[in-house]
Amino acid sequence: MFTIKNLNVSIEDKEIIKGLDLEIKPGEIHAIMGPNGAGKSSLSEALMGHPSLKVHGSIKLDGEELAELPVDQRAKKGIFLAFQNPEEVEGVKVSNLIRKALSAKEGVKEKDLETMVKAHEELVENAKKLGMDKTFVSREVNVGFSGGEKKRMEMLQMLALKPKVIILDEVDSGLDVDGIKMVSDAIATLNDGTRCFLIITHYPRILKHVKPDFVHILAHGKIILSGDEKLAHDIEEHGYAKYLKGNK
Ligand code: ADP
Ligand code: MG
Repeated sequence: MFTIKNLNVSIEDKEIIKGLDLEIKPGEIHAIMGPNGAGKSSLSEALMGHPSLKVHGSIKLDGEELAELPVDQRAKKGIFLAFQNPEEVEGVKVSNLIRKALSAKEGVKEKDLETMVKAHEELVENAKKLGMDKTFVSREVNVGFSGGEKKRMEMLQMLALKPKVIILDEVDSGLDVDGIKMVSDAIATLNDGTRCFLIITHYPRILKHVKPDFVHILAHGKIILSGDEKLAHDIEEHGYAKYLKGNK
């Protein structure tokens, strides 16, 4: 479904990712773990198409090459990224942002009142599930939001857009235990076997709630080791150091 081949990413002539390969099948949850500065956020931004990154290699969704497409085109194809540090967007309400995003997606027209009313009801319902009150959807996007609210906002967008490839960068940072539970419930809601998930995280904490099928360690610009859930438990117990030795 989602296939990354020989991906190279650099920022201002600094090589961050050096030949990364990854294949995610429908219904699979993959975790990418790695120490600070390993390039996890750069990888997620490269997959989404951040214009300031220099990217070589192949990123395919259902056989279609996306590596040359701009961010909005990738979003339309079904790629979604929940940011580690979501931006504040002054003057734009949560409900407006999500309405625009939905209407930009094929098939949902803003003038189609019935569809939009339904979408709004679903939005309010999802906000409730994420532990936010009704007023949340009328607030300006991320303006004055707490860390946990910003993360819930990312989840709200994910639930509305129902993307095919869901990339979550440090989605649990800033969240308390209840918040993590809500995030894992949101992921479970969408995990119907037609989508795939890439959970990018430094801490193993989220992986206790969202069970990954595969865990990969990213270091020195590459996936240096792949395994299953046990790898995350081992990292929790022993840290990254033992995996980083001899892998430069
Ligand atoms: P991680 O998410 O794994 O902690 P990042 O992808 O944020 O790592 O960063 C990887 C490396 O790229 C770091 O060494 C970081 O300093 C560098 N980096 C990230 N963004 C920039 C930038 N805009 N300019 C220069 N270096 C950057
Ligand atoms: Mg990061």
